[in-house]
Amino acid sequence: MGRTQHIQDSSNDFYAQERSKASFEVNDLSLVIWGSQEKIDRINKLQRICEEDPLIRYDPKHLGASREEIFILMAQRTRRMHELLGFHNTEDFNYVLSSHIDNQPFCGLHWKMFIPTIKYLGTDKQVKYWIPLAESHQIFGTYAQTELGHGSDVQSLETTATFDIDNQEFIINSPTLSSTKWWPGELGITSTHVVAFAQLLIDGKNYGVQAFIVQIRDTENHEPLPGITVGDLGVKMGYNAKDNGYLRMNNVRIPRENMLMRYAKVSKSGIFSKPKNEKVGYACMMEIRTDIITSCSLIMARTLTIGTRYSLFRTQFKDSNGIEKKVLDYQLQQEKIIPYIAETYALLAGGRKITRLHQQNIKNIFEREDFSLFKDYHAIASGCKAVYTARMLEAIEKVRQACGGHGFSAFSRFVDIYHEFSPFVTYEGENTVLSLQTASYLVKGLNKSLKGEKIPPFIEYLKCVVGIENEKFTAQSKREVLNIDLIRKCLRYKAAYLVSIASQKIMEGLEKGLSMKETWDSYAGINLVDASTAHVEYFTYTSFLEMIVEASNERVKEVLIKLCLLYGIQKLITNPSCFFENGYMAGEQFKMIKSAKEDLLYELRNEALSLVEAFCYSDGCLGALGRSDGKVYETLYEWASNQNRLNDIPVQKAIQAELRKIRDVSYMKPSL
Ligand SMILES: Cc1cc2nc3c(=O)[nH]c(=O)nc-3n(C[C@H](O)[C@H](O)[C@H](O)COP(=O)(O)OP(=O)(O)OC[C@H]3O[C@@H](n4cnc5c(N)ncnc54)[C@H](O)[C@@H]3O)c2cc1C
Repeated sequence: MGRTQHIQDSSNDFYAQERSKASFEVNDLSLVIWGSQEKIDRINKLQRICEEDPLIRYDPKHLGASREEIFILMAQRTRRMHELLGFHNTEDFNYVLSSHIDNQPFCGLHWKMFIPTIKYLGTDKQVKYWIPLAESHQIFGTYAQTELGHGSDVQSLETTATFDIDNQEFIINSPTLSSTKWWPGELGITSTHVVAFAQLLIDGKNYGVQAFIVQIRDTENHEPLPGITVGDLGVKMGYNAKDNGYLRMNNVRIPRENMLMRYAKVSKSGIFSKPKNEKVGYACMMEIRTDIITSCSLIMARTLTIGTRYSLFRTQFKDSNGIEKKVLDYQLQQEKIIPYIAETYALLAGGRKITRLHQQNIKNIFEREDFSLFKDYHAIASGCKAVYTARMLEAIEKVRQACGGHGFSAFSRFVDIYHEFSPFVTYEGENTVLSLQTASYLVKGLNKSLKGEKIPPFIEYLKCVVGIENEKFTAQSKREVLNIDLIRKCLRYKAAYLVSIASQKIMEGLEKGLSMKETWDSYAGINLVDASTAHVEYFTYTSFLEMIVEASNERVKEVLIKLCLLYGIQKLITNPSCFFENGYMAGEQFKMIKSAKEDLLYELRNEALSLVEAFCYSDGCLGALGRSDGKVYETLYEWASNQNRLNDIPVQKAIQAELRKIRDVSYMKPSL
């Protein structure tokens, strides 16, 4: 049974009338999002499983739990999720994780980083040995790259792995305080093994950072092994059910076979051979980066389902007939919600394209050791990861604010959504650092193109930099603005122009006598990140156009076109100075674009609910504000009064005892 039916059959459906205002059937759009009715049914089934299972379903009572209690709960939940859904990394598991679970489960790093790293970087023999142990949970592992002193700058990691030819072993050391491994998830308590990234030293010569499997705890009693100091790194802004940890290794010996040697190798006689492509060490990161990119739209959709429903539930101030207005009927509220809905669909389209590219890239590497797509994939995925995660986080916070006071209550679930997903902007590549990597690819691509050399199809548009000063925005009326190809050209102009400006800025820096590194670090950074962002937006917009072409239902197509236009226009309005620096656009034309956006907000007002509901999120993951039965106040009241540890009698008594001591003001000293 499709979600639409599911909602409409319910006698408690508060939003039926609002839903009927949409110009399309929700399920037709769900088909575009999920790909098939079978998948939609599967999603609905998963939602039901989560809502019915007493251990997995959201329980506001856990909000006041201590870190220790959350750990125990998440261990139990993880086991239950494995029972019901299979192990981590299955599509079902990942879906439930991003939609229902308010804390990180156990062994996520084990399944998402440790196992894939061995699969990517290990030889067939290593895979055959380690993977069955890991998949049967006889060992637990994590990915230990970051150190106290260095994260983004991987080449400066200080942990060492010194080859001892006589014993055919590596000796692993943390030589300084700053070389302490810091941050790896599941290191603090859970892991028995790590893939540690360390500088490989042979006969005093450094062969760069390589990956080594190191056992850190006894698999029976879980005690740290000799030479290992390990622990949890403390309370964080969120993510507190994850034992991110620290690790120091003092003369820890591992067999030569524990270096992951599919690509980089050390022979028995101590000869090092380089991988064909140095970046292959990041292969596993590519996998998880793709995962992050694709989950951004889903997390935004969930956030916006809460925000949109609540904006249609909440009334504030009366209209001229004395009837209280739904807050979504205010243009300013539409402005807070609807552009993010458009962005959600844009990110969905971009994420899909990245996934296809990733799959092709991995296939090429594994089947033919063909790295030809690696650079292109890496450049676009890095840029998208940076932009998509930043937009997602921004959306959660803005939608939270758009829900007024109740948005600030943890019962809204914005709190756990924000905290669980906010590290996305930091881990698997810090966003600024990633944007700069994309910018480097773009500037090099532009230089090649200017020299008449062949450039990859993703950046072929950079050819239009030649003669860009003569390009003009052609629309003369609002109607002409609302044209998907015109907006595409405008975004293309923005991206090409900003890449050329970044490139000019680098030339300027060099002409001033700065080195390339100084120019990059101290002179051109802002332009480079602007260029990368505009490139990602152009890529995303064109991916959205492709998604529209693939949609078969005409009504769905129409609404997707409006969303695509709104996404594109929003990107034109943000950081628009590039349109005026060269006379590409007149002030009057810019006003028309802004006015076209207002029209789109108005037109999409009645579509908003169905646009978010098409993602099929059920009440169990939408907190008190996003419920389909509209029982927002009842739920807030019930959870505040009965699901709130502060209202438990013994807790109240203990607090009141302290209050009594404060009431007795005789303890106060006269002021000094
Ligand atoms: C919740 C969480 C989980 C994590 N899990 C793991 C894990 O499992 N395993 C693991 O190995 N690591 C993990 N990490 C670490 C994470 O991958 C790093 O923190 C991340 O890569 C960022 O690196 P950094 O901390 O060195 O940041 P820094 O690079 O020090 O960033 C600090 C600031 O410097 C800026 N900056 C840095 N370089 C440049 C530059 N070249 N130009 C301009 N600005 C620059 C950044 O933009 C940022 O604003 C985790 C981190 C978190 C928060």
